[in-house]
Amino acid sequence: MIIMSRPISSTRLIRTYNASTVLRVLYQHGSCSRSQLTRLTGMSPATITRIIAELMEQGIVLEGKVGKSTGGRRPVYVHIDHTKLFIGAVKLLQDDCVVAILDLRGQIIDKERIFPHTLEPSVLLEQVVNTLNRLLEHCGINLEHILGVGVAVSGVCHSDQGVVLNSVNLGWQDVPVTEILNTNLDLPIYMENDANASALAELWFGQAKDTTNSMFIKTEMGAGVGIIINKTLITGPHFMAGESGHVPLVTNGEPCRCGQRGCLEPYVYFGDIQARYHDRTGKLIDRDEFIELVRRKDHYALELVQQTAPALALACAHWGILLDMDVITIGGLWGEFTEEIITYCQNFYARVLENTGISREIRIVGTEFGDDTDLLGAAGLVINHWLTPYSVP
Ligand SMILES: [Zn+2]
Repeated sequence: MIIMSRPISSTRLIRTYNASTVLRVLYQHGSCSRSQLTRLTGMSPATITRIIAELMEQGIVLEGKVGKSTGGRRPVYVHIDHTKLFIGAVKLLQDDCVVAILDLRGQIIDKERIFPHTLEPSVLLEQVVNTLNRLLEHCGINLEHILGVGVAVSGVCHSDQGVVLNSVNLGWQDVPVTEILNTNLDLPIYMENDANASALAELWFGQAKDTTNSMFIKTEMGAGVGIIINKTLITGPHFMAGESGHVPLVTNGEPCRCGQRGCLEPYVYFGDIQARYHDRTGKLIDRDEFIELVRRKDHYALELVQQTAPALALACAHWGILLDMDVITIGGLWGEFTEEIITYCQNFYARVLENTGISREIRIVGTEFGDDTDLLGAAGLVINHWLTPYSVP
């Protein structure tokens, strides 16, 4: 039994096993009476009364509507004050570093882009902490009301230890990100590979919310896959699950920068698309120009999309059926093309299922979060950890 001998700060309180269990139930159910909480958590009525009193004292939980009496006193429903708890989110990609504050529903309260003059880890991470502190001050949010900070990084990450094992994008190897951040930031910090984080964004706030198995295929800067099975992120014992972007998929396909042919990456990596468009037309176009050219049915741009569509459709069908997916979300550039990519992949998948006699409904969608997917994923990472109760020593 935990005996509270001194006032506990809200940050410490919400990380105690009992309080986080109660908050998890409230997050999932919206609002509950104390007797419902007793039933749903398995705790005693006295414990629930005490925890709710403490959470109310900290302003984290509020009393709301009064329910109907079933004989005794009318039950008062309590709910989380969504204006009191927040999450810090960080996206770290070579040319795209952003720090943000989000609420528990995944709404971005404020965000700021960092323009790093160097990618040297300690310098960049110090900039991250300074930016987060500035945002908190700007929004008038006390550090006490930040549940934690999630970091989405491009590369292979040892998420349990918070170490970036290898990031070609950032040029990092064995960088202890959470340890460096924790020297200047006294908050729980969680880190995950960007594709994995994006899968969590869809699970907590997006189109995979009501599903059990989902997959996020991250495109544009490369090809990464985040996998959710039974509502749990699958990273694998060596943090390699989903690192399928360089497994050849198309026989004698496009040459890849890894030296092989037919990986998914040369079909979805915008740098390769840009180079191929340049080879054919002599014009160097950026991402937005490419999208516009496809919309205007430019011959060469459409030809490139028509090469990518079957490669992505193969990837969706192979990986989706292998893992019995409910929904596959395509992020980045290719998720923008509803007709040319999303519908194509959906139809291809449906045909494969029909021909193999598998009766199964699957949704293939483009992400609705655009550039913010990684940030929402970083926030989802914090929610994910928060809803897994643990004790504060
Ligand atoms: Zn490759």
